[in-house]
Amino acid sequence: MTKAIYPGSFDPVTLGHLDLVQRGAKIFDELIVCVASNPGKNPMFSLEERLELFRKAVHALPAVRVESFDGLLVDAAKQFDAAVVLRGLRAVSDFDYEFQMAHMNHQLRPGIETMFMMTGDDYFYLSSGLVKEVATLGGDIQPFVPEHVAVSLNKRVKERSGK
Ligand code: ADP
Repeated sequence: MTKAIYPGSFDPVTLGHLDLVQRGAKIFDELIVCVASNPGKNPMFSLEERLELFRKAVHALPAVRVESFDGLLVDAAKQFDAAVVLRGLRAVSDFDYEFQMAHMNHQLRPGIETMFMMTGDDYFYLSSGLVKEVATLGGDIQPFVPEHVAVSLNKRVKERSGK
């Protein structure tokens, strides 16, 4: 049985993340989405909100679980008994950081492999950060996130702007 974790901030989950999860779920027996409790990025959504938004998005996928983690990624992999860390690669700009992380994690715990999947054609330009920026500036975010995420994000933007 091959278990993988898919870690990230997911602030919030986008269709790009979901594309990766759907494809990953066909490869691994169990895929555990690990939502970072402290993404260090002043998140727009709390950990509980990010977990809930992701769980709602994958409720129809039985091989996928959504949990939180803090601390080292390799410790999370051990905690969830996963041999693989799944990450997405969008563009060359992702490569440097991912390359460093994968090697560092390998040093910290050699038994854990990092595997990369290329982003889906339709989503290579998509990031949570950009979606939040578009929402904040009043753009339509429906093509980029699940419907329930669009509703929550638009609501959060409104609350923050005090309207
Ligand atoms: P982090 O803060 O760890 O970068 P993110 O939530 O931004 O967390 O991303 C989590 C993972 O999902 C990363 O491996 C990232 O490369 C990948 N990812 C983000 N957006 C996309 C996308 N549009 N398509 C495929 N993978 C993506």
